Amino acid sequence: MSVTDHRQVVAAKRDGKTLDAAEVEGFIEGYTRGDVSDALAASFLMACVLNGLDADETLAMTRAMIGSGETVSFGGLDRPTVDKHSTGGVSDGVTLVFAPLAAALGLAVAKLSGRGLGHTGGTLDKLESIPGLRTDLAPDELAAQVAEVGCAVGAQSPNLVPADGALYALRDATATVPSIPLIAASVMSKKLAVGTDLILLDVKAGSGAFMKTTEDAERLAIACLDLATGWGRAARVAVTDMSQPLGDAVGNALDVAEAVELLRGEFRGRMRDLAVAFAAAALEHTGSVGRDEATARAEAALDDGSALERFGAMVQAQGGSPRVADDPWAVLPKAQVIRPLLAAGTGVVQAMDAEAIGLASGALGAGRLHKGDPIDPAVGIVVRAKIGVRVEAGEPLGQVHARDEAAAAEAARRVNAALTLGEGEAAPPPLVHGWFE
Ligand code: URA
Repeated sequence: MSVTDHRQVVAAKRDGKTLDAAEVEGFIEGYTRGDVSDALAASFLMACVLNGLDADETLAMTRAMIGSGETVSFGGLDRPTVDKHSTGGVSDGVTLVFAPLAAALGLAVAKLSGRGLGHTGGTLDKLESIPGLRTDLAPDELAAQVAEVGCAVGAQSPNLVPADGALYALRDATATVPSIPLIAASVMSKKLAVGTDLILLDVKAGSGAFMKTTEDAERLAIACLDLATGWGRAARVAVTDMSQPLGDAVGNALDVAEAVELLRGEFRGRMRDLAVAFAAAALEHTGSVGRDEATARAEAALDDGSALERFGAMVQAQGGSPRVADDPWAVLPKAQVIRPLLAAGTGVVQAMDAEAIGLASGALGAGRLHKGDPIDPAVGIVVRAKIGVRVEAGEPLGQVHARDEAAAAEAARRVNAALTLGEGEAAPPPLVHGWFE
């Protein structure tokens, strides 16, 4: 395709026309090769945001993105392989629990994860708060660990879907991130480039998610499922609640400690329920058991310590101290200042701005505003308040883990500002809005 052809493709999308697969693929391939300038690509992306892409155009874009780099396969494993991905939220440590839990159920979890950006946390950052733990696993190391331990969580190599890395940076810089087909192509290109038997996708909806409404999250879920189907892969997609932090911990070491509590069977709540729901969906997909039996087995693997044992084995295989599974705070980094988080007002929690809470934790040093920024694994927030619960002024709602007093006070102020208190009762939101499969 010549430069003139590429400009015609952009003009056609600008004018609301539907592109054929060759036009979309040629454009993305041209951008990846460097034949298409950032200016023209940004114009194309904005035309996509404004005029949309249909299912065939989105699939063509995804195909070109996958073709831009290497792919990973897990041929030869004696167990069904599964990948799980969340579109990003606050206090979303499900992968830390899901991976060893599914391994304990006899599945093989091969997970390439990303880092946190903006208000959302990243599984890699959480795991790397365990001293010594490596996530830069080469593809053969990842495959060998999955065969031996049943689960591995590694960093996505820059050679996997490099077109997404370049396009995402351009979208970030040009206000072209919020488009359901562009997000679906971005997310699914990275999932489809890794050849597992099943893809589990957690599309978050609510104040702490990319998709603020359930309707948009459902549209994204369907777009992602269509891409999996179009690529001939099995996927199960859940739309789940992110109108409040999922667990209590919003940080990195804090999330690992919470995940260990959960794996020890001590933490009961929405994060445990979601980890169980995903593990059960994966086990049911193998065809060996129905959903009720799969759920019972997942609950049992949390209560009998077998998932915790797999977590310790995974940490050890990746160079971290398995002691984290017995006594997390003996190995995890601790913040210099730990202060109670006191409620500023009285009333029933009507709503929570989960994004604001994620940003408050980020401002303590737990997150990054720009790709590549360093993070502080020790700091963060524990907030036990949830929608529908009554709080009294002065009551401890959790803790702030900070580098100094001023940062702790500011985080406490921001968390309180993120809570809407009122006198009427408030129903807790459903955890799972629906499954698409
Ligand atoms: N996560 C991704 O991987 N891509 C997007 O476009 C948005 C969220």
